[in-house]
Amino acid sequence: MADVPRVLLLTDPGMARHLPPGHPERPERLDAAIGGVLEGALAAGALLERPAVQAAEPEVLERVHPAAHLAALEEAGRAGTWIDPDTYVGPGSMDAARLAAGATVQAALAAYQGRAAVAFAVVRPPGHHAAARRATGFCLLNNIAVAVMALRAAGVGRIGIVDWDVHHGDGTQELFDADPQLVYASTHQWPLYPGSGLPGERGSDAAEGTMHNLLLPPGAGDEAFVAAWGERLVPTLEDFAPEALLVSAGYDAHRDDPLANLLVTDAGFGAVAEMVGGIARRLGIGGVALTLEGGYDLAAIHGSVAATVTGLLRGLRGPDGAGSA
Ligand SMILES: [Zn+2]
Repeated sequence: MADVPRVLLLTDPGMARHLPPGHPERPERLDAAIGGVLEGALAAGALLERPAVQAAEPEVLERVHPAAHLAALEEAGRAGTWIDPDTYVGPGSMDAARLAAGATVQAALAAYQGRAAVAFAVVRPPGHHAAARRATGFCLLNNIAVAVMALRAAGVGRIGIVDWDVHHGDGTQELFDADPQLVYASTHQWPLYPGSGLPGERGSDAAEGTMHNLLLPPGAGDEAFVAAWGERLVPTLEDFAPEALLVSAGYDAHRDDPLANLLVTDAGFGAVAEMVGGIARRLGIGGVALTLEGGYDLAAIHGSVAATVTGLLRGLRGPDGAGSA
């Protein structure tokens, strides 16, 4: 009989103080995702813990974002500034962004160290469009990149990133494009913002073949989404044999999402999550860390996050229920 799996929920109400006026990336998304983690953990019979979240310290952020860029964002935030037509930084925004990065770091370390089967950072603002010196696409700091660098500082070599947000994570790809020790795998709707992530973008120099971008046409649903991961991206990730697995967990590929045109359901996210859990089980990775990216329909976020948690735990447990979690 396997031990009762442990699920960590990493979130903080300070992340509700990022308040872009009239914006779909709104504070209510946090409660929707929190509800999903609670429901998923309960349904799976897991032990849920909610450790306190610490904001990421400057030296942790500066592994990804130069100090001058962070200072410029702070300054813009004091006045309340639209950095571009989609991306706002206001008085509470940088505190929220530091909490979001900190929660993602905590999730990554807890999962890697086997302290949790699933460690879900329920955060905002999201991160995967942010590059070293560029805040854009609702994103201020690249949360998952900061977590990658925290893992590296802890001695982790090969890292795999799963990005199932409906948008390409252009910031993440740019940050690790020349890193042969990191595989990034993404499905995204095409055409759609930000217009990057073509299959020919495969990584630079010694990292050629580490970036894996699969396009889904408008109208694609569970069948195409699950096949893209099951037949292409999951085998690629597993062949790379990462020591840690991180997920950019966006839910804007859901059929009810107002910002994109895919038709993925809660069950589709659950099926892909189960496959990702299976990678972790077969490779002996302690757990899987996730950070919330996009997703703008509250019920879709709730249901899909719950399906993600139960799916991951199914995958980690394995077909015979014998895997440790
Ligand atoms: Zn997105």
